[in-house]
Amino acid sequence: MSRPLVAEVDLDALRHNYRLARAQAPASRALAVIKADGYGHGALACARALESLPDGERPPAFAVACLEEAETLREGGIRSPIVLLEGVFEVAELERVAALSLWMAVHSDWQVEALLARRPSRPIPVWLKVDSGMHRLGFLPEEAPYVWARLADAPDHACDLHLMSHFATADEADPATCRRQLATMRALAERLGAPLCLANSPATLGWPEAHGAWVRPGVMLYGSDPLEVPTAASRRLLPVMTLRSAIIAVRDIAAGEAVGYGRRWVAARPSRIATVACGYGDGYDRHAVDGTPTLVAGRRAPLAGKVSMDMLTVDITDIPEAEIGSEVVLWGRAANGAVLSIDEVARHCDTISYTLLTGVLPRVPRRYHGGFD
Ligand SMILES: *Cc1c(COP(=O)(O)O)cnc(C)c1O
Repeated sequence: MSRPLVAEVDLDALRHNYRLARAQAPASRALAVIKADGYGHGALACARALESLPDGERPPAFAVACLEEAETLREGGIRSPIVLLEGVFEVAELERVAALSLWMAVHSDWQVEALLARRPSRPIPVWLKVDSGMHRLGFLPEEAPYVWARLADAPDHACDLHLMSHFATADEADPATCRRQLATMRALAERLGAPLCLANSPATLGWPEAHGAWVRPGVMLYGSDPLEVPTAASRRLLPVMTLRSAIIAVRDIAAGEAVGYGRRWVAARPSRIATVACGYGDGYDRHAVDGTPTLVAGRRAPLAGKVSMDMLTVDITDIPEAEIGSEVVLWGRAANGAVLSIDEVARHCDTISYTLLTGVLPRVPRRYHGGFD
């Protein structure tokens, strides 16, 4: 058999999750964030599946991190508006932005100067990015009205102005910081009469007051629950990616024997160990601790021993039916319907779902299901 590891992508689940995002913010328009190659799922496949939703259900726009990501989508035939969340990285990109009918964030003085210095072939829709407290990107709230006025005075250069900002702590149960950020942005939007876009996935799911004219769900579209405390809605998210492999070897070891590099896992009882074709060279996190869950033949089985480059080892002592060739799901949905949440795996790796999803390496073949009516 060829190497059994694949990343299966369920595009119907993506569409379900997008519908769920819209239903959470019914008065807002929902950008679908598909940066970083659709959080590792394949941006073009994701965009096509979402763009083929019926009229009135499809995303009014997509969002990516840079011009190259938008070009890939345009070359693949995606016609919807696409927002560049960080705008341009150099002046020379502006003409491509206009030519490809992209929208862009503007977060720095040099971007404003560049946009106003030379008239683009058509005016560019601009989302003015404000630093309301995260201190990563954007204009200070007190400078924003001045920048806004300059852009509003140059309709041949910039059009369709929006205000955007990003929350630093929307995933946390304590909303104090978010509340401050929201108050700042609301006051600014009121003063400027501006449409507002603030909410990432956690705010889309958990914080209706933060839904402005637009919301910007990302990771929830891929089925990861971004909230510290899940809600009824977040529990309805479906996993989009299943990282699936198989057992390639089985051995019985005595109590006291150790498994893998550094002898980290030591058998407390006579144990059966399965070797699985998946390792950190595929993007599975090497920080996974002993006990990190997997699904072997649809049943939970703990990682035993350090992850190697191309393989990992699992304790299948309690799964007598497991044998060479048995299915192993590292996250996602098993053939018997059992689900292993990527968020649970991420916690065992001391990381977040975002790094696991974007970390699946190119050597893992993607296999797509669904996505069209
Ligand atoms: C990535 C990103 C998002 C989406 O965030 P999620 O937490 O994945 O929902 C929204 N806005 C901006 C500016 C982003 O960079």
